[in-house]
Amino acid sequence: MTLKRQITKLPRDTAVAGWNAVLGPAPSRPEAEGDIKADWLVIGGGFAGLSAAKRLCELRGGDRIVLLEAGRIGEGPAGRNSGFMIDLPHELSGDGYAGNIEGDRLQISLNRHAQNFARSCAAEYEMPAEAVSPIGRINGAVNARGEAHNNAYAAQLETLGEPHTKLSAAEMTEMTGTGTYRSGLSLPGAVMLQPALYVREMAAGLTGRETMPISIYEASPATAFSRQGDTWKVTTPKASITAGKVVMAVNGHAESFGFFRRRLMHVFTYASMTAALSGDQQARLGGLPAWGITPADPMGSTVRRHTGIGGSRIVIRNRWTFDPSMEVDEARIARFRRDHDRAFRRRFPMLADVDLEFSWGGRLCLSRNSVPAFGEVEPGMFSACCQNGLGTAKGTLAGIGAVELATRSNSPIVQDLLSYDEPAKLPPAPIARLGATLVLRWREWRAGAEI
Ligand SMILES: Cc1cc2nc3c(=O)[nH]c(=O)nc-3n(C[C@H](O)[C@H](O)[C@H](O)COP(=O)(O)OP(=O)(O)OC[C@H]3O[C@@H](n4cnc5c(N)ncnc54)[C@H](O)[C@@H]3O)c2cc1C
Repeated sequence: MTLKRQITKLPRDTAVAGWNAVLGPAPSRPEAEGDIKADWLVIGGGFAGLSAAKRLCELRGGDRIVLLEAGRIGEGPAGRNSGFMIDLPHELSGDGYAGNIEGDRLQISLNRHAQNFARSCAAEYEMPAEAVSPIGRINGAVNARGEAHNNAYAAQLETLGEPHTKLSAAEMTEMTGTGTYRSGLSLPGAVMLQPALYVREMAAGLTGRETMPISIYEASPATAFSRQGDTWKVTTPKASITAGKVVMAVNGHAESFGFFRRRLMHVFTYASMTAALSGDQQARLGGLPAWGITPADPMGSTVRRHTGIGGSRIVIRNRWTFDPSMEVDEARIARFRRDHDRAFRRRFPMLADVDLEFSWGGRLCLSRNSVPAFGEVEPGMFSACCQNGLGTAKGTLAGIGAVELATRSNSPIVQDLLSYDEPAKLPPAPIARLGATLVLRWREWRAGAEI
């Protein structure tokens, strides 16, 4: 059977993300050119694609593996997120829920598998410690509503036997320097990534040894694909790659490949990073050199202090928009930068002389029923897409899972990823846009002070 398709849209990332910029230029990788033959073609160089490539090296040692990235590794969403690699589900099903504690336990153990995978890659590829740091996170509560949410969450963690510690306002200030939070819930299982450093180092590690059978090409978007018998042919502007099997690891762009049409929601969120703090500014701030706060209300701001190659900086992420075009413009980034600035000034009045140096936005892919877009979508083509906003862990699992499915290894990851319904169909486009925008605005309004 033959199949032939054009890829309808290529990714566009708006503005430079601080995480990547502070690292300085990365050594560039070649563009794909000419006729290339491979056993495996991975499309997409984010968490899913790089994890798939790594798992292939582990399972299929001598096979030839090619990875195509449309832009440059570290510039896409995988290098522009807030780096919280979280083990616990956002919502738990403990007391008061329909009761799916076993389901929660499974998700926690799979997320920890992803964390351990990242840790073992960090060790194997000798990444700087800041790339993957197991420092946990704090769920910060700004007001009574946030505090009530944290209390309910703590009760559910108790049921699950998961460690957590309540922090007073004074303890929050002691750890982070800010007096904004009236309490917090310390959740020690989160692993914090320097996301751009992690994906860059993954790519360097995968290609770094002469014995590695893997080639990574940058600035090499897949623009069309076809199948003739059991061979796939994927074209880029300058190359034609034939491969036995393809892993599609492009998150929401699965839709541009003609899969999961009208079933994926393309959402953006936005972040800003301060200039590096001087010694005097760090002394005024106080607290630990690295910490991460997630908001008790999921629509609130995530706030991080990170200390590493780029100095010591604070990163704020907030605001959500629904953008089926999968693109946003610079004006939007400038507008939301003002929200980041307000959130920063409110939390850190002692750093009045510190400016935001970088502001950016990035794509996420969600499904209405919060399920992945995973599986063998055509014979020999495997989708590792739709991470529902939790791509550091879920993307890692999807990439590993796609390879384990393709190599017919029956693993708990594959069993879990295959156990979900298909992503649910969206309503007609104008209704979907209006509905999603209203829901996002309302939830942001409700998050109030948490932003
Ligand atoms: C500001 C922000 C903060 C976030 N914070 C967090 C967080 O703290 N924790 C968390 O877990 N998640 C977070 N996320 C979400 C997370 O970044 C994504 O879920 C994750 O990047 C998805 O990983 P992925 O590998 O599936 O897709 P991506 O990272 O999007 O990688 C897919 C890659 O495919 C490439 N591609 C697309 N089309 C083609 C093509 N035709 N040819 C070749 N390559 C192509 C793209 O360029 C891209 O690099 C955040 C996102 C943003 C924007």
